Amino acid sequence: MIKTYLGIDVGSISTKGVLITENREIIAHAYLRTQGQPIEAIKNLIKELFKDNKNIEIKGVGTTGSARRLAGVIVGADVIKNEIITHAVAATYFYPETRTIIEIGGQDSKIILLKDSVPVDFAMNTVCAAGTGSFLEHQAIRLGIPIEEFGDYALRAKKAATIAGRCTVFAESDMIHKTQLGIPIEEIIRGLCEAIVRNYLGTVAKGKDIQPLILFQGGVAANIGVKTAFERALGIEVIVPQHFLIMGAIGAAFIAQDYTQKTKSTKFIGENLLDINFKTKTFECRDCTNFCEVIETYKNTQIIDRYGDRCGKWSEKLPNII
Ligand code: SF4
Repeated sequence: MIKTYLGIDVGSISTKGVLITENREIIAHAYLRTQGQPIEAIKNLIKELFKDNKNIEIKGVGTTGSARRLAGVIVGADVIKNEIITHAVAATYFYPETRTIIEIGGQDSKIILLKDSVPVDFAMNTVCAAGTGSFLEHQAIRLGIPIEEFGDYALRAKKAATIAGRCTVFAESDMIHKTQLGIPIEEIIRGLCEAIVRNYLGTVAKGKDIQPLILFQGGVAANIGVKTAFERALGIEVIVPQHFLIMGAIGAAFIAQDYTQKTKSTKFIGENLLDINFKTKTFECRDCTNFCEVIETYKNTQIIDRYGDRCGKWSEKLPNII
């Protein structure tokens, strides 16, 4: 049996997972759409990762991403860590000199600044859709261009059309207007890539001391047009790591490995989690003016987790898993 560690990253748009060996070799990875159904996505991810890997023994599990807690209770995670930590761990493993991580995913973006491999500052933007993967995908569909070719279109342009970067609505109307003026599509797409970078640098990275070595991760890093626009704006090389889509999951697996090598045990439920009926329910607590939305996770009929209560009134009635 090959000893392996499982890392899972569940976000609002995508669910990612990896299996790594004790030598940190990636033997399987998967990237699926969450499609608003994180429990189904996690189960499908487990199926995908295990289908060609029957001769393995899971020695540790880590989860991350916005649904890390849900993923953690479902699979039986040994460690549950936020994306800042897991991205930093993976980035500095592959590139120890990393000082800046630019991460742009499906629905949010973040910047992580590191010193001596330790995150010292970060910022996230979960509010503005301009510049995220979803917006780029929407524009690709609208223009009838495969998203994989978007970056190449931008690189072919000799100059960029000016596209508003501060808001998706303005950006889209600008693009339509420029198309009507007969401006080549390549220039419009390059303009869009530059607008995404302007938006990022003017919001999430505003006031941050961006230093090399810079890694660009997350789904939007696949777009060479955006990478090039960052390099033009910053005047520094930007590196897209080989595993740019799954760095959070890799970091979670690494942390799980370090942790379980000390504890010598794992809480992993095993593949039989696929047969368990998990579901979540929410209720609003009105015991004070905070009106917290409390989320409960059920394993068949048993409540196995509660969170969302600011005072701990409900979650403290269950063992704390974080
Ligand atoms: S969970 Fe606690 S903080 Fe939230 S509404 Fe109820 S009593 Fe108030």
